[in-house]
Amino acid sequence: MSNSPHLLDRIDRWAQICPERLAHTSGGRSLSWARLIAQSDALALWLETKLAGTLGPIAVHGHKEPEMIVAFLAAVKCGRPYVPMDSSIPEPRIAKIVEGAAASLVLTPERIGAILAELPAAQTRKPVRRVEGTDPFYILFTSGSTGEPKGVVITLANLSAFVDWLLSEHSFAEQGEVFLNQAPFSFDLSVMDLFGSLATGGTLASVTKEELSNLKALYLRLADSGITSWVSTPSFAQMCLIEKGFRSAMLPAMKRFLFCGETLAPETAAQLLERFPEAEVWNTYGPTEATVATTSVRVDTALLEAYSPLPVGYEMPGTRVVVVDENGVEVPEGERGEIVIAGPNVSPGYLKRPELTEKAFGQRDGQRCYRTGDWGRAKAGLIFFEGRMDGQVKMNGYRIELGDLEANLRILPEIADAVVLPVQKNGKVESLAAFVVLSGPKGGSDFEVSALLKTKLGEHLPAYMLPRKITFLDAFPMTPNGKADRKKLAELLGQKP
Ligand code: AMP
Repeated sequence: MSNSPHLLDRIDRWAQICPERLAHTSGGRSLSWARLIAQSDALALWLETKLAGTLGPIAVHGHKEPEMIVAFLAAVKCGRPYVPMDSSIPEPRIAKIVEGAAASLVLTPERIGAILAELPAAQTRKPVRRVEGTDPFYILFTSGSTGEPKGVVITLANLSAFVDWLLSEHSFAEQGEVFLNQAPFSFDLSVMDLFGSLATGGTLASVTKEELSNLKALYLRLADSGITSWVSTPSFAQMCLIEKGFRSAMLPAMKRFLFCGETLAPETAAQLLERFPEAEVWNTYGPTEATVATTSVRVDTALLEAYSPLPVGYEMPGTRVVVVDENGVEVPEGERGEIVIAGPNVSPGYLKRPELTEKAFGQRDGQRCYRTGDWGRAKAGLIFFEGRMDGQVKMNGYRIELGDLEANLRILPEIADAVVLPVQKNGKVESLAAFVVLSGPKGGSDFEVSALLKTKLGEHLPAYMLPRKITFLDAFPMTPNGKADRKKLAELLGQKP
């Protein structure tokens, strides 16, 4: 367990040290450190009184409003984990998450604002109990292969282990960093910038979905933000690199790019090093189940010369990242196997899903471990990622179970059966393609029926999970043992199976 002071004390102290410094800027709004801490203390007391003895999670439903962070801190300050839910998630899925989490309360930025407006600015006491040790700190819901999102429980001990490592890896300047927040708070990549910033007295600079949908607004926001520590998916940086002006002249304070969540292409890293000669580029790797990242490596010109594809890094001290065979036995150096992570950052498991937890988690060398489902190799202490063993894909950094999409297609009354395949280009998933067998007559052109099905599906799933192309078949080609033949379907897409 982390020997550092309680993470909440490390965060709270900035209200005394730099009260006027901005803790968060987002969508033209901002929140100072003094207000962040005062408001989260006030909301924590309100929650304690309101919820009396129940310690169920607090669901926080919004986007990147400053109230979101106030609510996250308030929840843990009164002993309850928070469940961040981004506003891009459609209502039926939100309902599943709230029900699956058995949340005691759902807060929105508007509701938080209204509650705070009624509360005294200064508190005379603290809540009786805050989150400690192995108590759940947050619960993140990720795509589940059966169509039900699954809640990954992350404890204070898990998060503290990650934050300690993050701060030891990078020489962040106390009260000196501005962190880019690109990912929504419902994705664990955001934990890197949110807690990197909160632990160092930094400023979190969020880009909102409105800014993301308008490139001109995005570059203005970036240029205006003073970002020093960039945290994003490689896809987001690749998109920014299309703009020729995206270089150190636009972001002169940039010190480091931290990537996680999907493959970092050597070309992306090389372009960034060329355009930001003063900045470092880092590749980090890990699943939500092991708290954001467990391996990291600085990508400099020497590493670029030595490796293509790039390694995902060296294991975090105190953890073991090993490559094993189907019996869980470590394979010889350089051989391919499944990446298993053991250490203090590994989650206790999925919320109220013992059978799923049992399948993926266990013990290894006295530590909790997680079988990632990732193919990998270890060479000279470095871990290399080599794709997924199952139907999970990453598209623009988003984790999607193909089975989740298939299950949500099958619940539409028009659809009898569905298979979803990734469409790849240059080794990256570019879009998803669905093959469907309808339950009745088509009742329109392919275009019309596709549009209708996408609209209906969009009522259940966030936009990033929707298939781009839907192909109608009378029946699926079958394998000899009677399963839909995914290889044959991939050939129909012109893809290598
Ligand atoms: P998530 O839980 O959304 O963070 O997704 C975790 C999965 O993303 C991992 O199990 C990998 O399949 C993939 N992933 C994470 N980091 C990297 C990386 N640096 N390079 C390639 N794939 C990655």
